[in-house]
Amino acid sequence: MSRIIMCVDMDSFYASVEIRDNPKLVDKPVAVGAGNIEMKSEGVRLGDYKEISGAITTCSYVARKYGVKSGMRLSAVRKLCPDCILVPPRMQRYKEISDQIMELLENFVDHENFEVRSIDEAFLDITENVKNFEEAEQFGFNIKNEIKEQIGLTCSVGIGPTKSIAKIASGTNKPDGLTIVFPRNVEEFLKDLPVKKIPGIGKKTAERLKKELGIETIGHLASIKDLQKLKKLFGKNAIYFYYVANGIDQSRVMPRSGIKSISNQKTFSKPIADEKTIKETILKLAERIYKRLKKGNLEFKTVTINIPFDVKTFHSKSISLKHYSNSLETIINTANQIWDENIAPEITSIRRLSLKISNLRKIQTKQKDLTYWFKNNK
Ligand SMILES: [Mg+2]
Repeated sequence: MSRIIMCVDMDSFYASVEIRDNPKLVDKPVAVGAGNIEMKSEGVRLGDYKEISGAITTCSYVARKYGVKSGMRLSAVRKLCPDCILVPPRMQRYKEISDQIMELLENFVDHENFEVRSIDEAFLDITENVKNFEEAEQFGFNIKNEIKEQIGLTCSVGIGPTKSIAKIASGTNKPDGLTIVFPRNVEEFLKDLPVKKIPGIGKKTAERLKKELGIETIGHLASIKDLQKLKKLFGKNAIYFYYVANGIDQSRVMPRSGIKSISNQKTFSKPIADEKTIKETILKLAERIYKRLKKGNLEFKTVTINIPFDVKTFHSKSISLKHYSNSLETIINTANQIWDENIAPEITSIRRLSLKISNLRKIQTKQKDLTYWFKNNK
């Protein structure tokens, strides 16, 4: 049976974070970038400046309607859309939000089936989470909803039998799309797409394919007979491109080296104020986290509770222990302590609660166990 891979790609990520953080930018053409003009954190209107140089990294979908594209020069953006608001990039903020998104996504699958591809993109191997592609679609919708609900951003999801197809699918229906490519539809799906949709084929390679071999579509590339010629042009990548064009891609979802944290969260349907429900929730979340801790043969040092007041502000408190621990009781007790001492006095009701353990490491084989072994095996 084929694998089921999902690619989650955030929509115009930097621009979307800016809009999320500043409601005044909603429905406006927004670009993130830098230039020779004095920037204000709330942004400047490009049409108000005569002499501008510089470029944008990304732009909102409203800006894209005017023809504005990522990487464009500021002068070109201004020409297309004088009302476009230019906002300076805040990389640390994007990283922060990205971490929240990745943490949330990783909770959906086992650690070994999750890959962070870039700041705004991830792969999930969901083969073991769903029965078939129909169920995978529902899974994709759940993930989209969760990101929208918890982070306040939209993403586009692609689902397919390989990583490259999932990736291509995620880009075909943006923004806020979900595209699913069943194994039987792979050829049909790829056939008419331009070659540059293949991950790794950039503008230059696409131009060379057209100039040297007259190839423009993935279908054409898939049917090429003279592989040697392709190899001569593109080296060892040629075979990879050829396989991907034929829907074949053996590359696996690659987890980050080592788990950084384990977390779990609960969203309530209405604001919760009573202590009993909160303590029960902490207990349930701790039990789920503990299961994954045990499975990974890990121990932890830090416990964190996150309480998002709303999508914008995260209220986060941590306690770091003196020694590593691998006990469920320690997770529960430390979380309760954080709640009682740091959070309860400050807020009255919550809508979401997230519990996290971090500072993880593999449980070490203890020296005394070895001495014990020697003593008894002499
Ligand atoms: Mg993206």
